[in-house]
Amino acid sequence: MSLLRVTHIAKAFDGFRALDDVSFEVDAGEMVALIGPNGAGKSTCFNVLNGQLRPDAGSIVFDGGEISGQAPRAIWRKGVARTFQIAASFAALSAIENVQLALASRERELRRWWMPIASMHREEALALLERVGMAAMAEQTCGELAYGDVKRVELALALASRPRLLLMDEPTAGMSSAERTSLMVLVKQLVAEQRVAALFTEHSMDAVFGFADRVIVMARGKVIATGAPDAIRRDAKVGEVYFGVGSLMEEMRDEMRDEAPR
Ligand code: ADP
Ligand code: MG
Repeated sequence: MSLLRVTHIAKAFDGFRALDDVSFEVDAGEMVALIGPNGAGKSTCFNVLNGQLRPDAGSIVFDGGEISGQAPRAIWRKGVARTFQIAASFAALSAIENVQLALASRERELRRWWMPIASMHREEALALLERVGMAAMAEQTCGELAYGDVKRVELALALASRPRLLLMDEPTAGMSSAERTSLMVLVKQLVAEQRVAALFTEHSMDAVFGFADRVIVMARGKVIATGAPDAIRRDAKVGEVYFGVGSLMEEMRDEMRDEAPR
């Protein structure tokens, strides 16, 4: 049984079909890239998966239970973590304080506001930072960390909820190519070591073909291909979408140029 099974999901905005009969599966321990040109419906798909949007039709089964239409918080509690979408860390707090807060939130301890952060879950927080390669910088405030390092801390924040599925919509946007590779290597390790599943979108084809176990291709709200990276590379339909007239590859390069690094 797949960890995540999406079947016949539809979502329209004012009659425009952003998701049109979308079906796919993700297994535990799998790193899956969701790719497609701008406007294909990737972000809408993430929004439906994590409960931010209610699908018009279809089913989303996670770990054997239906989650479609549930509140984001409820879906998060079941083990679906969405990462890197918004700045998840507090710039004024140290890396470890940020993780300690996330752990407290998992344990529903935020009501204990009188407890100094410094005393909460320190060891577990440090272990999480260790896992993302940030233990040495634990005491630095997030505001003074490099962009790629902040993203590592934010990955630790996501891991604090002990997710079984990481949803990563353009996780490496704004990163240098070295930071991008390093983050993807890290996610790949976590996926392999802890049998977490990761579903990610990514503009860099190097990252997609270098790290994904499987690739799902969307165009105009539909899944047009699914398969191993090698098979996707050779898929004629995908070639048409990406390399056909008007060269969407060019468009993607332009987008990457537009992403101003911080
Ligand atoms: P992608 O992430 O693949 O670039 P999106 O899922 O963001 O694509 O968007 C798919 C389509 O749905 C786009 O045409 C977009 O304009 C439209 N869309 C997305 N969200 C909304 C919304 N909240 N209201 C209206 N249209 C939307
Ligand atoms: Mg998007």
